[in-house]
Amino acid sequence: MTGKTHIMGGIAASTAVAYYYGFDPVTMAAAGSVGALIPDLCHTKSKIGRKFPLLSTLISSVFGHRTFTHSLLFLLIIYFLATTYIPNDSLSIGLLVGMASHLILDAGTVNGIKFLFPASIKVRLPFYVKTGSTGEQVVLAALTIVTCYYIAVICGITIPIQF
Ligand SMILES: [Zn+2]
Repeated sequence: MTGKTHIMGGIAASTAVAYYYGFDPVTMAAAGSVGALIPDLCHTKSKIGRKFPLLSTLISSVFGHRTFTHSLLFLLIIYFLATTYIPNDSLSIGLLVGMASHLILDAGTVNGIKFLFPASIKVRLPFYVKTGSTGEQVVLAALTIVTCYYIAVICGITIPIQF
């Protein structure tokens, strides 16, 4: 998926979690959008890869694309670091929710992810799209609608449908 879809996925997931678990929605959405970009550190041309070119080049050359940074192992390492060193739950949980949304969205693409890295098993959802395709645009639109829904209910606006 492209960076904008990941950002919207991170915001959608983190606002939903903020709504159901009572975290601060603004902090969660900000952290969720950043967390949603972190796994693509393995890609030098990604939004975050261009911000940190040395780190991105290092990770890309050591691990390759969609392996370590798209794995359960990486998620657990970040979970440990975030819950140990970030005192704000909305911030640390938001980062993790954003990262998890990234892994789910990339598992919904043709190439899938190596979720169980260092095992080389490819994990892909039964329904998947090609990155940058019309299918991804549909996913982005759906995530935007979900985000609007949760922002509305967090703001106290009554919506006749429930997720
Ligand atoms: Zn990715």
